[in-house]
Amino acid sequence: FLPHLVASLEQVDETYIMGKPDGVQRGLVGEIISRFEKKGFKLTGLKLFQCPQDLAEEHYKDLKGKSFFPKLIEYIVSGPVVCMAWEGVGVVAAARKLIGATNPLQAEPGTIRGDLAVQTGRNVVHGSDSPENGKREIALWFKEGELCQWTPAQAPWLRE
Ligand code: UDP
Ligand code: MG
Repeated sequence: FLPHLVASLEQVDETYIMGKPDGVQRGLVGEIISRFEKKGFKLTGLKLFQCPQDLAEEHYKDLKGKSFFPKLIEYIVSGPVVCMAWEGVGVVAAARKLIGATNPLQAEPGTIRGDLAVQTGRNVVHGSDSPENGKREIALWFKEGELCQWTPAQAPWLRE
């Protein structure tokens, strides 16, 4: 049994994080990025972007048919969003924890939604719900050439 090899075999995942239009309008972009940056995940993609209707619908296609779907799409295209790709071991689940519950009034203090929002329909940030959706959403929101592969200087200080 070689624990150092087990650690190196741990799956590196990717997640799509998005500052929603309210996050941008409320001046929370730096704060949102900062939460993931400080935790120790690696930023591999970042852009300010005005989302077109069809992309918003594709991104949220699993929610098509829900009563809130039209208002959700209207919200997402209502102003620029900040698109982010983050990478790391366990990043998908960890990002969901950092973001907090969908309803900000139920989100724990210390989470982004728990600290910064009050309503489900204005909950500031999106995060992928599975590694598969992380890959799908990053491919949806970023073009080839928009992502960077790099080794942060802090890497050896984050993982032994
Ligand atoms: N949403 C909403 N009303 C609802 C449920 C969801 O407006 O009753 C919006 C909200 O912005 C949420 C998004 O739809 O973040 C996607 O819903 P999901 O259940 O996937 O929540 P999330 O994964 O964002 O926590
Ligand atoms: Mg979701």
